[in-house]
Amino acid sequence: MYIGNARLTTKEWISPRTLILELELESEQTFIPGQFFTFFFQREGKKIPRSYSILGMEGKKLTLCIKLVEQGVASEVFEAAKLGDEFSLRGPFGRFVYQEDENPNVFLIATDTGIVPFHAMLEQGEILKKNVTLLFGSRNQEEIYFREQYEELAKKDNFTFLPTLTREEWDGLQGRVQKHLPEWAIFTTFYICGRKEMVLEVVDLLKKKGVADKHIHIERYD
Ligand SMILES: Cc1cc2nc3c(=O)[nH]c(=O)nc-3n(C[C@H](O)[C@H](O)[C@H](O)COP(=O)(O)OP(=O)(O)OC[C@H]3O[C@@H](n4cnc5c(N)ncnc54)[C@H](O)[C@@H]3O)c2cc1C
Repeated sequence: MYIGNARLTTKEWISPRTLILELELESEQTFIPGQFFTFFFQREGKKIPRSYSILGMEGKKLTLCIKLVEQGVASEVFEAAKLGDEFSLRGPFGRFVYQEDENPNVFLIATDTGIVPFHAMLEQGEILKKNVTLLFGSRNQEEIYFREQYEELAKKDNFTFLPTLTREEWDGLQGRVQKHLPEWAIFTTFYICGRKEMVLEVVDLLKKKGVADKHIHIERYD
């Protein structure tokens, strides 16, 4: 496990409140797609932890995708961060990783930056041996992160990209992800990532459709 610092090397805005950060670790590390790092922030003498899924990691380079929230402890630090700033962190942690099973279909459900672990899994590619659907809930088109990449991937037979918007009218799917779960949930393993309320509601709906616990994997961004 890595316990150390990381230096900010790149900071790019991909929507008005969403950042891609690249950080340089002190030594080369590896990860399993879906895992995260925990960062530590100092506030009034206290050490405050916040976790971030790994968008990508190669050698010493760690890439994250972070949505800033109003008056958030970590959000304020990331918003003000300048190249060269140092962060204290530990990881990778987490068991929200792709686990091959008997089902031919994998259905990924994300809202907002809950997409990050799935992005890492799709880039690594192992998961694409199955029929994969990515249902991605965003507020508006601006926040359909990595859209071009997924649209390109969807040209393949075994990948379906289903973005759905809650705050903008468009010619694609509309409304929350809960509205767009598959009618037939058999032979399918589900991975769900995002805020607690969404994750819990989706799990409840899937269970009502008869999906077994072992075919539901979750990561809550509480
Ligand atoms: C395993 C794990 C992985 C995570 N990975 C990522 C990731 O890859 N990218 C990412 O952006 N976040 C991720 N998160 C969420 C992240 O850890 C923080 O919760 C988030 O960045 C807010 O932290 P903060 O300190 O800025 O806000 P806080 O100080 O914790 O919160 C400030 C206020 O904002 C509210 N709030 C917190 N989060 C949200 C939200 N998402 N939407 C609306 N209101 C909110 C709080 O309820 C509170 O009222 C992950 C969480 C976990 C547990």
